[in-house]
Amino acid sequence: MFRFKRIAIKIGSNVLTHKDGTLDTDRMASLVEQVAALHAAGIEVILISSGAVASGRSALKLEKEPDPVSARQIFSSIGQARLINEYYELFLKHGIYCGQVLTTKESLSTRGHYLNQKNCIAQLLQHGVIPIINENDTISVTELMFTDNDELSGLVATMMDAEALIIFSNIDGIFTGDPKDPASQVIREVAVDQDLSKYIQTSKSSFGRGGMLTKTNIARKVAAEGITVIIANGKKDGILTSLLSGEGDQVCTVFLPSKREVSSVKKWIAHSESFAKGELVINDNARDVLLSDKASSILFVGITDVKGDFERGDIINIKDKEGSVVGVGKAQYDSRKMVQSIGKKGLRPAVLYDYLWVN
Ligand code: GLU
Repeated sequence: MFRFKRIAIKIGSNVLTHKDGTLDTDRMASLVEQVAALHAAGIEVILISSGAVASGRSALKLEKEPDPVSARQIFSSIGQARLINEYYELFLKHGIYCGQVLTTKESLSTRGHYLNQKNCIAQLLQHGVIPIINENDTISVTELMFTDNDELSGLVATMMDAEALIIFSNIDGIFTGDPKDPASQVIREVAVDQDLSKYIQTSKSSFGRGGMLTKTNIARKVAAEGITVIIANGKKDGILTSLLSGEGDQVCTVFLPSKREVSSVKKWIAHSESFAKGELVINDNARDVLLSDKASSILFVGITDVKGDFERGDIINIKDKEGSVVGVGKAQYDSRKMVQSIGKKGLRPAVLYDYLWVN
C-alpha cells in the first residue's frame, strides 16, 4: 500500500523546532509515529535530521557568546544530544531502535570512508534500526562543511540507493515565484531536464532565502540518478503517510526520476564536486562532446589548463573556458603528469567515462 521500499527523509530545523529554537516535540512525535508505520509495513527509512544547532542554542544561554565557530560547536554538541535523546525515546515507544550516525564532508570524500559509512547504515537497516544522520557540526566548520543538510541528504539517498528522497521544510514545495506572493504557485512536477531557470531568475530572493536554490539543485541531481525527490511541507499533519500512500492530494513538488542506469561509483562522483582537489579546463569542442549523448572520456587533446595539486585517484572538476563546472571525475594521473600532457594526442584519457559525472 505504500510506494517505495527504501526512502531517505530529510527533516529541516524549521520543521523540528519552534520559533524560539526549542524542539517541537509534538511534531517530532507525529513524524516518528508515521515513520514507525512505514517501518511496520516493511519499508526501510533513513532519516537525515537537522535541528542540533537550533536546539542547543535555545537550551544553553551563554552570557557572552564566543566567536561564531565556537558557538556553533558548543550548541551543536548539546543540541545533538538533546535531539537524539528525544528521537530515541519516541522511537522506543513504538518498539523501534534508532541509531545516531554523525558524518563530515571530509569523511565522505574518500571512497574508503564512504564505503564504511554505507556499510554502517546498511547494517543498521538490516537489523531493523532507523539510522538518524546529521553532520558532525562540532568538527565541521568553515569550508569543510556541507552547504546544508539538503546536500548531505542527497548524498545519503544516493549512497544508500534509496528509491525516494523526501525533503521536508516549512513550505509546500518549489514555487513559481516568491512563496509570499499569492500569485505564486507550487510547481507540482518537474520532468527530467526541465529548465527551472526562469523561476529562479524571476524570484531569486525567494529561492535563495528558503534555501530553495540548493534544494532545487540537489533534487535535480538526485533525480538524474534515478531517485524520485519530493519537496514538501513537514509541518503538515499526516504528510508522510499521505505522500507515500498516495491518498489525498498533497501539494508538493515531485522531481521525476531519470530512467537511465547510473553505476554506484558514478553516483559517488556526482556528489563529490565540492571535494575536488583540482580542475581541468576543456575547450569548447571537448565540452560539446561531453554534453552530447555520446559516452565519452576526457582526452588530453581537449584540455587547455590544469589547476591545483592533485594525485592520481583524486576527485577533480571539469570546467569549460567560462569557468562553469560541466562535470566531475576521478583523475587518472597526478597533476604534474596532466600538465605535461595538455593538448597532446594519442594518450590514454585523463578521466575515464566510467569515473566521470556530467552535470
Ligand atoms: N546540521 C545542522 C543542525 O543539525 C543543520 C544544517 C542545515 O540547516 O541544513 O543543526
